[in-house]
This record gives sequence, C-alpha cells and structure tokens, in this order.
Amino acid sequence: MKLIFIGPPGSGKGTQAKRLAAQHGVPHISTGDMLREAIADGTALGQQAAPIMASGALVSDDLMIGIINDRLAKPDAARGFILDGFPRTVVQAEKLDTIVGNGSGNEADGLRVLQLLVPDEAIVKRISLRRSCPVCGAIYHLESARPAVDSVCDREGAELIARPDDNETAVRKRLEAFHRQTLPVATFYKTKQVLREVDGIGPVDEVFERIERSLS
Ligand code: AMP
Repeated sequence: MKLIFIGPPGSGKGTQAKRLAAQHGVPHISTGDMLREAIADGTALGQQAAPIMASGALVSDDLMIGIINDRLAKPDAARGFILDGFPRTVVQAEKLDTIVGNGSGNEADGLRVLQLLVPDEAIVKRISLRRSCPVCGAIYHLESARPAVDSVCDREGAELIARPDDNETAVRKRLEAFHRQTLPVATFYKTKQVLREVDGIGPVDEVFERIERSLS
C-alpha cells in the first residue's frame, strides 16, 4: 500500500491515516508530526520551521522534499506507507513521482490518493475542540472523541494540549494555504486517475469504513 491522504487541516486525516497504517502494517508518515518532533528536539530544522508553522503558512518545498526523501529511503517504507500531510504543493507532488512511483494511473505499482472532503465551516469548529497528547500524538476531540479522564491521554496519562497552530488566525491561514496550494495537488492526481474522494463528515468509525470501501 502506497497511499497519500489529502484533506484540509482538521479533516481527520491524521486520525484515519494512523488507523489505516496500523491495520495494513505500513508506516504512518506525517510531515507535520516530523516537524513537531524537530521543534521539540530543538534541531536546526525545528528552529527554522517553528515560526512558519505557528503562522499557518507552509514550510518550503526544498526542506519538505529533503525530509520525505530521507524518510522514504528507510527500510520500513520499502513495502508501502501512508503519507499524511505530504505532498502539499504541486512541486512536492511532482518530486514525489520521481522518488516513489509514476502515478500513471496503474494502481498496481503506483500511488493511490485519498481525498477527505470536509467543508470549511466544519473545520474551524472541529479544530477549536481538538487536543493531542504531547507524548504519543494521539488525537482527541472534546465532543466526539473524549479521553476517559478529562484532559488526560488514555495511553500516556499526559496532560492533553492544543496545538499552537490550532488558533483561529492560524487555522484560517492554513485553510487558505490548503485551497491555494494543496487543492491543485488533488487535481494533479485526478488527472492521473488515482484520486478517490471520501466524505469526511461523520463519526470516526463511519468515515474509516468509507475509506476502506473506497480502497477495496
Ligand atoms: P499538519 O500537522 O499536517 O497539519 O502540518 C502542520 C504544519 O506543518 C503545516 O501547517 C505546515 O506549516 C507544516 N507542514 C507539514 N507538512 C508540510 C508540507 N508537506 N509542506 C509544507 N509545510 C508542511
């Protein structure tokens, strides 16, 4: 399985991608998680990315392509992967073609792309209720996916946090970046006939079933 998830911020792609990766025994590769790790570790990459991410803008194509090139060269990605948050621009998508596959429409040896459809109005509300575990990255939602104990991760026992870029100003900027820079990526894959669109509205389990059906 070589699968790319495309969707606006807060569309649930992280949650669904993680679950699908676990089910299919392939790595879940989230460029957002990798950047947040670099920030937590205080690396040069993290220091460069932090202010850009906090503003809701995209990190440069060159940096992101370097990161994904190194990650996909690791042995665990040889049999497949689920990409979450990459490619986010057409330049990244074109580069990915040269790294992993031809995206020619031949799904047997190419990429498959799944686009989660969630309208903008639903996004801002969803994101303001999103919390995550700073230790394991598990994602919760204060209405639809609550932890057993308020504000505490079920697995790690850590205090849940809101992401620094989950404030309204940054969310609007991230949505704008999605429309202007990432939706053309969906068109890019549609032209290659490897795109499947799935309705991302509804409970997590229901959306997951739709995803599995669309891939089978
Ligand atoms: P995410 O966790 O996927 O919502 O990503 C959080 C932030 O990381 C984005 O708003 C961007 O600033 C940055 N980012 C993640 N992936 C990429 C990418 N492929 N290209 C550019 N910026 C990215």
